[in-house]
Amino acid sequence: MSHIFGRSTRGQLPTAVAGDGCYLIDANGKRYLDGSGGAAVSCLGHSNARVRAALHEQMDKLAFAHTGFFTSDPAEQLADRLVYYAPEGIDRVYLVSGGSEAVESALKLARQYFMEVGQPQRHRVIARRQSYHGNTLGALAAGGNEWRRAQFAPMLVETSHIAPCYEYRDRRDDETAEQYGLRAANELQAEIERLGPDSVMAFIAEPVVGATAGAVPAVTGYLKRIREICDQYGILLILDEVMCGMGRTGYLFACEEDGISPDMVTIAKGLGAGYQPIGALMVQGKIYDAIAAGTGFFQHGHTYLGHAMAATAANAVLSEIEENDLLTRVRAQGEKLQSALVSEFGQHPNVGDIRGRGLFRGVELVADRDSKTPFETGTKIHAKIKSAAFDAGLICYPMGGTINGQRGDHVLLAPPFIITDEQ
Ligand code: PLP
Repeated sequence: MSHIFGRSTRGQLPTAVAGDGCYLIDANGKRYLDGSGGAAVSCLGHSNARVRAALHEQMDKLAFAHTGFFTSDPAEQLADRLVYYAPEGIDRVYLVSGGSEAVESALKLARQYFMEVGQPQRHRVIARRQSYHGNTLGALAAGGNEWRRAQFAPMLVETSHIAPCYEYRDRRDDETAEQYGLRAANELQAEIERLGPDSVMAFIAEPVVGATAGAVPAVTGYLKRIREICDQYGILLILDEVMCGMGRTGYLFACEEDGISPDMVTIAKGLGAGYQPIGALMVQGKIYDAIAAGTGFFQHGHTYLGHAMAATAANAVLSEIEENDLLTRVRAQGEKLQSALVSEFGQHPNVGDIRGRGLFRGVELVADRDSKTPFETGTKIHAKIKSAAFDAGLICYPMGGTINGQRGDHVLLAPPFIITDEQ
């Protein structure tokens, strides 16, 4: 009997014993092509030589020094490098251990910021129905994934959820994509007015929605309008790039393609590429400055902030991306993946939409392609695909549930950046 308490209590999973590039290998020697990097994590595959060497070297020097007492070279170096690539104005980095911690930190920092600048009435968060921001209570409250929220609802702080930008289902026939994007973004303004503008502190969204909806990018202009609305009302814009950031879309930060800069951005997954648990909250200088001029410290923290081994892994990941020009590769391989999916499945009666950016692609499954009717609850089409693929030696990331008030199933593909044409 396994004593591990993992995700599922149903049966024993195979034991992963080794990684080889884009493949994972189990104890029976079976090889699995990692078509989703787990959950969009393993962007360099599973046996990267540079990351392994960097971790060995750092382990021989220093594994951990508590950030209450020390900083470290790997953490300082990583913060500098992330700021170098960051969206305009972002110049401070808070290194945590994963995505939920990054989002939780963002929400608390937003609150403390408004306390410091003398606007204590601002405490409300607006998010979108099609979103996942993590499983800790603050992040879960912000997320719109009904299935993940349901049984914890009484414990979640009240959050407003507006419609996502979901062109496949929500654009009307008489609208262009841009007109639709403006209409969707303007829901934010209506919600701010409804709540009372002075009470709202932040709007949080994923630029490309990941786990909840299968790589749904915002249409052109949507995030620009969102940025304008946040500025108009003095509300902080938090972009959650935990899944879509760190090169996944072919840009180090997905919002680069949308031509905007947030007040805060969260990253994780691809940052450590699975070699170490690490995430980061990155913020505009004005937020850091307000806290420095006021309380003098962020009233929050986790034991493993700025962990030297985790930062070392992330530095090595960045070096791989830089030296192998992996962003260019992601864009090229992403186009090929999209074309292959379209030519293979584009006319399939149960495939409604194939979308995404870079090596971040989603296939939406429907019972009827013409009417876009979703599969019924209980069909569990996503679970069947997951196990059929797994049996055949392919890891993909299918999800099903209620999305934006409607049932939906999709398969997310997020292969390592090093994936070859053949693979
Ligand atoms: N935010 C987004 C967009 C995510 O996709 C996830 C995880 O899937 C999280 C936050 C939570 O990250 P973690 O699982 O590392 O806590």
